[in-house]
Amino acid sequence: MNILVCIKQVPDTTEIKIDPEKHTLIRDGVPSIVNTFDTYALEMACRLKEETGGTVTVMTMGLPQAKKALKSCLAAGADQAVLISDRPFGGSDTLATSYIISQAVACVEKEKGSVFDLILCGKQAIDGDTAQVGPGLSEHLGRPLITYVSELKYEEAEFQGKRENDDGYDWIGVKGPCVMTVVKTAYEPRYPTLKAKIEAEWAQIQTITAESMKETLDLSKCGLKGSPTKVVRTTTPENKVKCIYIKEASPALSAGKLADILAQKKVMGR
Ligand SMILES: Cc1cc2nc3c(=O)[nH]c(=O)nc-3n(C[C@H](O)[C@H](O)[C@H](O)COP(=O)(O)OP(=O)(O)OC[C@H]3O[C@@H](n4cnc5c(N)ncnc54)[C@H](O)[C@@H]3O)c2cc1C
Repeated sequence: MNILVCIKQVPDTTEIKIDPEKHTLIRDGVPSIVNTFDTYALEMACRLKEETGGTVTVMTMGLPQAKKALKSCLAAGADQAVLISDRPFGGSDTLATSYIISQAVACVEKEKGSVFDLILCGKQAIDGDTAQVGPGLSEHLGRPLITYVSELKYEEAEFQGKRENDDGYDWIGVKGPCVMTVVKTAYEPRYPTLKAKIEAEWAQIQTITAESMKETLDLSKCGLKGSPTKVVRTTTPENKVKCIYIKEASPALSAGKLADILAQKKVMGR
């Protein structure tokens, strides 16, 4: 079983700052982590590999510093890592990002001589938040997609994904090769051992550039010029809400105080 997990390096903060002129994220001085949903996807892939055998490859598109994120995935159970990085890819929106990743997938599959049976993405990136790259990748590759998967089974050559919906969940079966986007799972991603961290530090990471994909890559679909999304203006919402913290000696006293405040504001009677 060949499994690919797409991961994104994201800023380790909830206080995202935007460059007012370029309308892009200011990443300088902000520590980075692997996108949380991608760590669940990686753990799901590693568990499936332990059941069926095979390999788990992690892939990211980003700046050279994204190698750090790939190394942390190698330490957490991935076998191989691929970085997609080149100037023409800078400024890509989700359409261009998913197109470039699909081209890189095709490039790696051609080299290996086999396709990835399963491609996992996180549900969404905690910085960009669009949740479009997984579905975009499925569309570009022409492979079926299951979104919002929290549990995965592989039985009788069929993948079964437990898909969360508004009323509960559905179990959906699909034959590979396919794509899934992963939500928070019931289990936590494993902690890497010290040995695994040291080995990952020295591991080889394959880099894919525009030149590596030149036979099939359409450069007009990459980067800013290949991105139909135009960020015209960005603003940070002003926080106008005043917060009152109620911390009385006991929960009962706190509840009483809250009731008094709500009664004063005529939200409820007393
Ligand atoms: C006009 C424009 C210009 C932009 N310029 C820049 C820029 O200069 N620099 C910049 O960093 N961002 C830029 N962005 C943001 C960029 O489009 C998104 O970060 C990117 O396309 C991913 O979208 P997302 O974060 O919403 O991911 P989502 O769709 O929410 O991510 C879902 C999942 O897809 C996978 N995934 C997402 N991104 C990647 C990736 N890069 N590699 C591998 N897997 C991935 C992960 O599994 C992730 O969990 C720009 C956006 C626009 C609209």
